[in-house]
This record gives sequence, structure tokens and C-alpha cells, in this order.
Amino acid sequence: MAQLSAKKKADPRPLKTTAETRRILDALFTQHPNADTELDFKNAYQLLVATILSAQCTDVRVNQVTPALFKRYPDAGALARASTAELEPQIQSTGFFRAKSRSLVGMATDVVEQHGGKVPETMDELVRLPGVGRKTANVVLGHAIGVPGLPVDRHVLRVANRIGIAKSDDPEVVERQLGSAMPPERWTQASDTLILHGRRICKPKPLCGQCAVRPHCHYYKTVIAKASKGAAGKAIPK
Ligand code: SF4
Repeated sequence: MAQLSAKKKADPRPLKTTAETRRILDALFTQHPNADTELDFKNAYQLLVATILSAQCTDVRVNQVTPALFKRYPDAGALARASTAELEPQIQSTGFFRAKSRSLVGMATDVVEQHGGKVPETMDELVRLPGVGRKTANVVLGHAIGVPGLPVDRHVLRVANRIGIAKSDDPEVVERQLGSAMPPERWTQASDTLILHGRRICKPKPLCGQCAVRPHCHYYKTVIAKASKGAAGKAIPK
């Protein structure tokens, strides 16, 4: 099992077994059968651009911006020829537009100069591109390239830790913990499902009454149910 961060080493919670983790993810797949990325894209280049823009921004907002962007810059070569000053007003509504402009132009320039204009298809090559971290690389690998990838964002971190199928605040550790419990061909689906569960049900203030895995959830048993019992003097009704 992967090493845990210092903070989580002291955490006494048991990590679910591989069999339990698979059963829990199966139940979540059933609850969210159509989980998929909500970013609109037609190829790896478009998904890479959209994922860079999605940092600290909603997918809905990104999807409002990208159609015009992809029309004006249909490939990495076109985007590499853009200036950051030209790009900034076009992506301003996604936030952090100066940094994102630099990342987009830098990424496109490297794709053209280092990879002949084609988005690379390995984790090692992707994370060397400006503005591309492991989460973004996993999104592109899993959704646009067909290489198993397990993106761990804040939703995956929160939900997996609450349930107890992961136990770390380090995304890379959580990626390894979840990945080791699932066959690679299910990694991307697992990530999509946990993200959707985090957006719709297991929000920062969770809707546990609507959750398919409530009986197996460590956080529910140890925090939510206890707090509710204390407040109401009885268990939460089913
Ligand atoms: S039971 Fe509540 S805290 Fe646990 S995963 Fe479900 S919604 Fe989240």
C-alpha cells in the first residue's frame, strides 16, 4: 500500500479492503450510471485546453467559452501562434486568465515543437507540458486517448476519504489507493463517478439520505449519524 502523508499516518480509520472498495464503487456506478466528464470536446487537443481552463472554474462556464476558442484556434499550431494578450479577453470569464493564457500558449508551443503538433499520449510527456499536472494528464489520457487514467480532484479526495476507500490528502496517494483496488479499465469511470457523487450528493454539506453507500460510509457512521443522534435524540430516519 502506498505511503500515507504524515497527517494521515495518525488517522486510525481502517482503509476498506479491495473487495469492499469494489462493492462500494459498484453501488456508486449504479447510482450514477452516466457519469462522464462534463467538459465538451472532440479530440485530445480540445480536452487538454478545456481541462486547463477548468481549474477553479465550473465545467458549464468552460463549455460556454470553448466553442469560439476552438473555432479560432482549431489545433495546437494555431494556438501556439496566439499571443497571451490576445487570448486573455477570450478566457477571462474562466478566472485566472493570465496564468491560463500563459499555460495554453506554452502548452501549444511545446506540443508543436516537441511532439509535431500532436498531443502526447503518455503521462510522463503530458506532465512536462506547461500548465499540465497529473490530474489534467489523467483526464486527457482517460477520456480522449483511451489510456487508463484516474484523475483525483477535490471531489474524489473528499468522497473517497469520507467513505474510507482512500486515506490521504495527497491526490497521488489516493490515485494509487483507488487504482490498486480497480482494474485499469475502470479507473476513469471510478473517477467520473466519485466526481459526480461529490458534486451531487456528497457535497461539502453531504446529502447522506440520498446516498447509495451510506451503510458503508465511515464519515456517516462516525460523524453525521452521531451528530444527528445528538441533535434529535434519535437516529436519522431512513
Ligand atoms: S453517506 Fe454521506 S458522507 Fe458518506 S459518502 Fe454518502 S453522502 Fe458522503
